[in-house]
Amino acid sequence: MKRGNALYVVATPIGNLADMVPRAVEILKSVDLVAAEDTRRSRKLFHHFGIDTPLLAYHDHSDRKVLERLTVLLDSGKSVALISDAGTPLISDPGYRLVHHAHQVGWRVIPIPGPNAAVTALSVAGLPSGRFRFEGFLPTTRAGRIRRLRELESEPDTIIFHEAPHRLLACLEDMRDCLGAERPAVLARELTKLFETIINDSLQKLLERVDADPQQRRGEIVLLVAGAKPRNAAFSPDVERLLSMLAAELAPKKAAALAAEISGVSKRKLYNWLVSQELPTGGAAKK
Ligand code: SAM
Repeated sequence: MKRGNALYVVATPIGNLADMVPRAVEILKSVDLVAAEDTRRSRKLFHHFGIDTPLLAYHDHSDRKVLERLTVLLDSGKSVALISDAGTPLISDPGYRLVHHAHQVGWRVIPIPGPNAAVTALSVAGLPSGRFRFEGFLPTTRAGRIRRLRELESEPDTIIFHEAPHRLLACLEDMRDCLGAERPAVLARELTKLFETIINDSLQKLLERVDADPQQRRGEIVLLVAGAKPRNAAFSPDVERLLSMLAAELAPKKAAALAAEISGVSKRKLYNWLVSQELPTGGAAKK
C-alpha cells in the first residue's frame, strides 16, 4: 500500500531487534524514501526485516540539497520516513529541523512510537516517575558539566541523563559532589540487550560499584538521579546545613534543640524537617 504526502517519524529498537513494532516495519516498507542518521547502520536493520526502501543520509546539519530532495518528494505526493540509529528520532538524535519544517510547510507528520532508552530506564528505575526532567547528554568538559549540575541541584523531579561509558566515572564523581552523596540514583545499562544491568543506589555507592567493576563502564548507559527533596522555606539553607551536621553526630531531638539555640528557629520546626529528610543521623538509634 502506498502512502502519500506524509512524514513518518519512526522509532526503532535500542538493542533488541524483537522490540521493532510491526507498524514500523510496515511503514518503512511502504514509504518512498527513508531519511536515516547513518545509512550503513540502518541497512543492517533493513536487511533483518527485509526492507528495501531507498535510504538517504539525514542529520540536522545536512546541507540544503537534502532538505530540497525531501521537499520535492513530499510536495509531489510521496511519503518519507525518518529514523535514527536507535530509539526515537529527535530524542538526543537528529530530526528536529525536518519535523519543524514539515509543520511549517503543512506536510502531515505521523508518529510511529516505539523504543526510547530514557523512558525505558525510567520505567524500571524505581525512582519517582510522575514528573521527570530529560537532560540528555551533559557537557563533555568537566567545567561545563559541573556548571550544569549546579543548575540542576534543586530540580525537584527525577532527572534522566545519557552518558558515554568513558565519561561515566568522572560524571558520577561530579554528580556526587554537586547533587549530594546520598542522592538516590540508577544506572541503567545495555537495556534490552544481553548484559542489561539496572543498579539502584546512592550516588556515592553507585560510584564505588562502578569504580570497582570496569564491566559497569561498558556499553550504553542511562543515568537517573532522584530530584532534590523540597527545601523548608521556614529557615535558610545555612540552618539546614548546621542541622544536618549536628544530626550526623547527635540524636535528632538533641540536634534540633542545639540548632534551635544557635539559630533562633523553633525546635519543633527543625525537628520536623530533620525527620522528613530521612538523613542518616549519628544518633538515629537514640531518641
Ligand atoms: N533517540 C535515542 C532514544 O530514543 O533512546 C537516544 C539516542 S542517544 C544519541 C544515545 C544514548 O541513548 C546512548 O548514549 C545512551 O545514553 C542511551 N541509550 C541508547 N540505547 C541504550 C540502551 N540499550 N541502554 C541504555 N542506554 C541506551
